[in-house]
Amino acid sequence: VLDLKHIRQNPGLYEQNCIDRNYNEQAKNGWRILELHESLVEKQKHVIQARQRSNAIGKEVGKQAAAGAGKKETLLDEARKLKELLSAFEDTEKEIQDDMEKLASELPNLSSHHTPVGKESQVIEVINEDLDISRSMLSKSHVDIGKELDIIDFEASATTSGWGWYFLKNEGALLEQALIQYALSVAMKRGWKVMTPPSLVYSHIANACGFMPRDQHGETQIYGVAQIEHDRTSDKPGLVLAGTAEIPFAGSQASKTLKAEDLPLKVIGPSRSYRAEAGARGVDTKGLYRVHEFTKVEMFAWTLPATNSEGDRFGDDEQLPQTEDVFTEVLDIQKEILTSLNLHAKVLEMPSSDLGASATRKIDMEAFFPSRQSIEDGYGEVTSASICTDYQSRRLNTRLKMPGSAAKLGWPHTVNGTAMAIPRILACILENHWKEDQGAVQVPECLRAYMPGNVASIER
Ligand code: AMP
Repeated sequence: VLDLKHIRQNPGLYEQNCIDRNYNEQAKNGWRILELHESLVEKQKHVIQARQRSNAIGKEVGKQAAAGAGKKETLLDEARKLKELLSAFEDTEKEIQDDMEKLASELPNLSSHHTPVGKESQVIEVINEDLDISRSMLSKSHVDIGKELDIIDFEASATTSGWGWYFLKNEGALLEQALIQYALSVAMKRGWKVMTPPSLVYSHIANACGFMPRDQHGETQIYGVAQIEHDRTSDKPGLVLAGTAEIPFAGSQASKTLKAEDLPLKVIGPSRSYRAEAGARGVDTKGLYRVHEFTKVEMFAWTLPATNSEGDRFGDDEQLPQTEDVFTEVLDIQKEILTSLNLHAKVLEMPSSDLGASATRKIDMEAFFPSRQSIEDGYGEVTSASICTDYQSRRLNTRLKMPGSAAKLGWPHTVNGTAMAIPRILACILENHWKEDQGAVQVPECLRAYMPGNVASIER
């Protein structure tokens, strides 16, 4: 959970942060933590008095041993009552501590000073600015292209699984593999290590990463998995389908201690991501844009926070050189991929209401989809990158050991970002690189090494 001391010292800051991030129900949590802590301190004063009295009685009983049994009995009776009082206090103390931690666990991370307050994102850069996107006005939607080329099948998936699922076929399936390989190659060149994660994770691991079963609008976001008989009887925690590899990646270091000299630790890997998308309605529900299961190549890193000599965290991300460097590298990888895929995209500093629970700062990239011109001017999110400071590592108990044996244990920062979210990029490539006169899609140069037989275009 977040730093309780920092919350107590700044309840107003956490309240405003909740309001800015649309966590209105949690806005007063900081103040409630402060009240609970004050009541704890008050109780602790009584406990100190009770302990002192208890010690004094111990000494007195010895002294009074010779002086009449009546007096000794009264003292022993008082000592018994004090013992009961102290034991009851221990229970209350634990309850108060648990209540404070629960309230803190519901709070979102603090937002960075880069983050615009409110609902409006800020365009900070444009990728492939010179691409003539007006030509694409006539282009078909990827649903029609996919059908015409026999590379996506939505009818078969409607039979097997319902709305929001799909089969990729022929060159569509091969394009998926090529996109995975290409994304891995871009990050591996920069020293990212490949790791493929499990798709199912314990629900408490998802929760610790900031993914709750329901979002702040009350919508179900995560698919659960029915427990098998053996797990139910053995009290094993429930499993959920990971919505992103960020969860198993972050969880892989839960309850471990990382060494400062090993950071940054940077991993990248493809996985299947599962989204309930219960709140999704309307136009996005057609095609590959918003689906329930998709392959995503994800980057995840643990980085060194800047700390003061006491090992305490700094809240201001201006003082996070390694975290900032890795975040910049994640963005560079995303930009390199979109640039070489010849897609036109905007880089956006995301506003406070879009940060979710864990991010302190988030940058999304939105690419141009000709078929989405009636929706948000044709742009759709294709990547997302976040700095989560120590929000996830505290909740997962991932510790950080600084050099020197006397150094206090700290908390590493975590950074995550999409390298390639396949279905959206696939749809974007189909729509932007469709050549009507050839009845084919021009495969971008950077993917050709990964398509069998060096396929230059998809033709039927
Ligand atoms: P997120 O983890 O929600 O930031 O998503 C990471 C990336 O995955 C987004 O930038 C999208 O490109 C993609 N994505 C998210 N949700 C879906 C979905 N339901 N269907 C297809 N792609 C998605």
